[in-house]
Amino acid sequence: MRHVAIVGSGPAGYYTAETLQKADDIAIDVIDRLPVPYGLIRTGVAPDHQSIKAVSRRYEGTALTDNVRFVGHVAVGSDVTIDELVGLYDAVVLATGAPHDRPLDIPGASLPGVIGSAAFVGWYNGHPDYADLDPPLDAPGVAVIGNGNVALDVARILAKTPDEFAGSDIVAHARDALAASPVRHIHILGRRGPHQIAMTPKELGELGHLERASPRVDPADLPDEGDDAMLEPGMRKSVTHLRQFAANPVAKPVTIDFDFFAMPVAIEGDGRVERVIVERTTLDAELRSHGTGETYAIDAGLVISCIGYQTPPIPGVPYEHGRGRFASDEGRILPGLYAVGWARRGPSGTIGTNKPDGARIGEMVLEDIGRGAGKAGRPGLDALLADRNIAPVTFRDWRRIEEAEVAAALDGRPREKFTSIEAMLEAIGR
Ligand code: NAP
Repeated sequence: MRHVAIVGSGPAGYYTAETLQKADDIAIDVIDRLPVPYGLIRTGVAPDHQSIKAVSRRYEGTALTDNVRFVGHVAVGSDVTIDELVGLYDAVVLATGAPHDRPLDIPGASLPGVIGSAAFVGWYNGHPDYADLDPPLDAPGVAVIGNGNVALDVARILAKTPDEFAGSDIVAHARDALAASPVRHIHILGRRGPHQIAMTPKELGELGHLERASPRVDPADLPDEGDDAMLEPGMRKSVTHLRQFAANPVAKPVTIDFDFFAMPVAIEGDGRVERVIVERTTLDAELRSHGTGETYAIDAGLVISCIGYQTPPIPGVPYEHGRGRFASDEGRILPGLYAVGWARRGPSGTIGTNKPDGARIGEMVLEDIGRGAGKAGRPGLDALLADRNIAPVTFRDWRRIEEAEVAAALDGRPREKFTSIEAMLEAIGR
């Protein structure tokens, strides 16, 4: 029997398991520190994007196969170490994603009210780490830093009316706080221009269909229309949306301003954030942004930096600090230790990007481990955890948690999530 441990039950983890489980004589343990599976699907993908979240049904199919086991509520690093796992399994695959924010390195970034997207997204998605975030939503202005899809998610969630969350699984604390908030002016700050955005067309187009909010683009920021021809088709569609927003400004109570060529250089306020100081930029021949010295201020009671994520390092595991990911040779970190998904590539690409990635790493593992080295595997982990009085949450347990979440949902919502580990465990009688 060959034994593989996958650390992390998000898309990269389950796509890797999907490939591995097709092999003979193999047992795969998918370990997660939360009692609930699916990682980014549950706590990263926007709650109003249920069609994207539906991919979890595919992971469920993998989780329910005979040779795959979910080992929930076991923290690698404290409950069990990487070295112990490498000793127990023929291969250990780190599919830990990139759950930490890249730091916003400007003066004032540590003022209360400056929040990274990992925390804010985790808050509205009910991640237990961020359930108590309580973001300050008491001022009309919010600055969202970054020009990627996460910035779009954040701006859209801030702008939506309670009715527009129908059918979503946004958690109650966020639903209530957003409904009561006086947020009226959302600024999306991009340090470069419309041709340098990292926003996909579908997500950008959604901003044009909001009930009480309208996107605004300064036509002066747009390059000549003829220059769009050199863009790849997806980008061209995105830029077409920006052109439409610029050409048809619609008066609605909530504004979403795209501030292009706008680099935040400082955050100011008396004991909490009150404004962001932004420097106008120009681009050089390599399309890098440079400050012009001209600055302006944006009033904001909340600043959310959506400037990318990083994988938390694990002591003893080689790490590329500049890129915020594990150091690996195409996925091989050390003998018996692998990385997949964002932990391998860094935080880019959609959920689907992890499918070929998981397949490739799965095949690489199968090739490397051959018939296995007769390691202790699953029974070994069970003995070690029992020794430490740790009772993992099983997939069957998770399905009971899920049933309770579905039963608690009102008004056509798919589920009302538990937002604390204690509540999740209570649902299974622990
Ligand atoms: P991203 O796509 O890498 O975008 C990060 C943005 O932050 C870029 O616009 C970048 O600008 C900007 N930035 C970086 N450092 C900055 C700084 N110091 N000051 C100001 N701006 C800075 O990252 P993301 O939005 O976090 O998304 C991560 C991945 O998840 C992406 O692949 C994304 O497409 C995906 N995602 C997909 C969906 C969806 O499909 N619905 C939803 C959410 C996320 P520069 O270009 O100038 O560096």
